[in-house]
Amino acid sequence: MLVALSIAGFDPSGGAGVLADIKTFSAFGCFGIAAVTSLTSQNTIAVYGAFHQTAEVLRAQLEPIVNDFRISAVKVGMLPTRETVEVTADMIKRHGLPNVVVDTVLRSTSGYDLAGEGAIRCLIERLFPLADLITPNLAEASRLTGLEVEDLEGMKNAARLIHEMCSPETVKPSALHAVLVKGGHLSRDATDVLFDGHEFHLFHAPRIITRSTHGTGCTLSSAIAASLARGCNVQQAVTKAKRYLEAGLLSAPNIGRGAGPLNHAIGRTVISWPDADVT
Ligand code: PLP
Repeated sequence: MLVALSIAGFDPSGGAGVLADIKTFSAFGCFGIAAVTSLTSQNTIAVYGAFHQTAEVLRAQLEPIVNDFRISAVKVGMLPTRETVEVTADMIKRHGLPNVVVDTVLRSTSGYDLAGEGAIRCLIERLFPLADLITPNLAEASRLTGLEVEDLEGMKNAARLIHEMCSPETVKPSALHAVLVKGGHLSRDATDVLFDGHEFHLFHAPRIITRSTHGTGCTLSSAIAASLARGCNVQQAVTKAKRYLEAGLLSAPNIGRGAGPLNHAIGRTVISWPDADVT
C-alpha cells in the first residue's frame, strides 16, 4: 500500500490539519502517517490558541517513520516557526522524499495567525525549492508576493512569481515547482490557476454555497498529494482532488455551530482509478 505523510498542525475538531489529511489519504487508498507541528485549540467557530512543537519534538516524530516506511508523497501544512520549517526541509532533502505538496497555511479563515514572519521567510527560502506543488489561496498568494491578487490576471502573476521564488536550489533538481493559486475566494466562480513553469491551466468549478468550508485547503492539498502518490501528473491530481472536494462539500456532515468540516469519507464513490485497486 502507498504511504503518504502529512507534516501539519493538529486541529482537535477534525476538519483541518493532520486529521483532515489522514482521512483524505484514506479516501484515496493511501496509508496516512503524520507528524504534528503545532497542537491547536479550535473548533468550527474559532482558533483559540496554538502550542507549537520544538524542532526536537518534530524531528523525534519524523525520524522513526521516514526511516521505516517508503513514503510516496508528503503534504506539508502549518509550519508555525522557523525551526519547524527547517526540520521539515531538512527531512525532505536528506531522505529525498517525493511528491512534496506545500500548502502555505498562514492564517485561519477566522483570522488567527498560524505562521510567524520568520517562518514565512524560511518557508520561501528553504521549502519552496523542494516543493513539487505550492497551493496558496488568494490572500496567501498576495502575502507571499506583495502583489494584489484579486482576479485571474493577478493569480497568474502571483503563480509565476512564486514559481520563480523556487528556482535557486540545486539540491533537488527533480522538484517541479508548480504553483496552484486557489480562487475559492474570488467574487464570482471559483477558478483555480495552475502554473507548471511553462503554461497556465485553469480549473473552473461552480461556487458551492455552504458554511462547511473549514479545512478545504488542507483537504485539497492532501488529496493532490495522494493522487501524485498514485501516479497522476499534477494536472490530473488537481482535477481528481477538486472532484473529491466538491463531493465532500456537497455531502458535508453539518456538525458544529460555526464553519463545519466537509465529508472526508466520500472518497471511493467519486474517485475512479484505472487499476480500481485502492485497498
Ligand atoms: N488549523 C490547522 C491546524 C490548519 O492546518 C488549518 C489550515 O489550513 C487551519 C486551522 C485553518 O483552517 P480554515 O482556515 O480552513 O478554517
